[in-house]
Amino acid sequence: MKITLEEAARMVADAQTVILTSHIRPDGDSVGSTLGLMHYLREQGKDARVLIDDEIPRIFGVLPGVEQIARPAEGARYTADLLIVCDVELKRTGAVLDAVDAVRVLNIDHHVTNDEEAEYLYLNPDDAATCEIMYDLIRAMDGGFSLDAATCFYTGIATDTGFFRFSNTTPHTMRAAADLIEIGVKPNIIAVAMEMKSYDEVMAQVRAIRNLEMFYDGRVAAVFIDEERAKDVTTTEGILDKLRVIEGTQVVFFMKWLEPDTYRVSMRSKGTNVSRIAQGFGGGGHIRAAGCTLHGSFDEAKKTILAAIGEELNR
Ligand code: AMP
Ligand code: MN
Ligand code: MN
Repeated sequence: MKITLEEAARMVADAQTVILTSHIRPDGDSVGSTLGLMHYLREQGKDARVLIDDEIPRIFGVLPGVEQIARPAEGARYTADLLIVCDVELKRTGAVLDAVDAVRVLNIDHHVTNDEEAEYLYLNPDDAATCEIMYDLIRAMDGGFSLDAATCFYTGIATDTGFFRFSNTTPHTMRAAADLIEIGVKPNIIAVAMEMKSYDEVMAQVRAIRNLEMFYDGRVAAVFIDEERAKDVTTTEGILDKLRVIEGTQVVFFMKWLEPDTYRVSMRSKGTNVSRIAQGFGGGGHIRAAGCTLHGSFDEAKKTILAAIGEELNR
């Protein structure tokens, strides 16, 4: 059931014990939104914790409290008045959903592809980031932002907007970020931390990008990372930023081997609806940034995604 921001704020304010979670393959917005709200709730005297069923990439070490994010332990049960699922629909939270007994479940998201399965859902696809929603949510609770919470929320807003460059960046996005900077967040520190890579990671990316392929008269640029190359491409962060700049490209993507017969596809566009393509394969996202998982042989998966993109380009 869709609810308003004010209703969501009331649910959050009414809960005493809160568990926050988000999607697997954590990004700045998933970690920032859960951790930031955790800080706020603790500052209100509530019992709040974050459970995420994945490793947290080390770039998020800059976020205060990140070491307190826990992965649900095998067979463990967790209880709470409220489970808040941030930046994703319920089904992509790994083992968390089944491990938590919560009186109520609230989903807070900005993905246009959200399946709306949650008991209570506050969805705003006009917001660039779930962290931008969190900013409004806390304002709706008449709350202020500690530097810890502000740092987390700023990070999610910055990363989901490509540091305020993508088309989802609005005056509201900038105003929220400006308020968070006013509290003391240092944009340069967040930017440097988010872009940090090891020498080996940079070199692996360079090798991956050297195998870049162009399709559809240069309208599509793609990098295919097979099982062999996936071993050293330990981070895909930033690869698509390198492809996006190629003149004439409409859609850029990578397909990366995950496990046998399973590949992750991540797409970016300059207007082509890539979320529709992703949804066709059980994935989702936003019009200009979406992802999905493909199965089968590498060559089949490559053909399949290329055909789907070609079809969308010609719509
Ligand atoms: P990424 O390419 O992984 O940065 O993801 C781009 C956008 O698509 C993000 O908003 C993701 O949450 C979303 N997304 C990526 N993969 C999936 C998936 N398998 N299912 C649903 N949404 C996804
Ligand atoms: Mn996310
Ligand atoms: Mn997001």
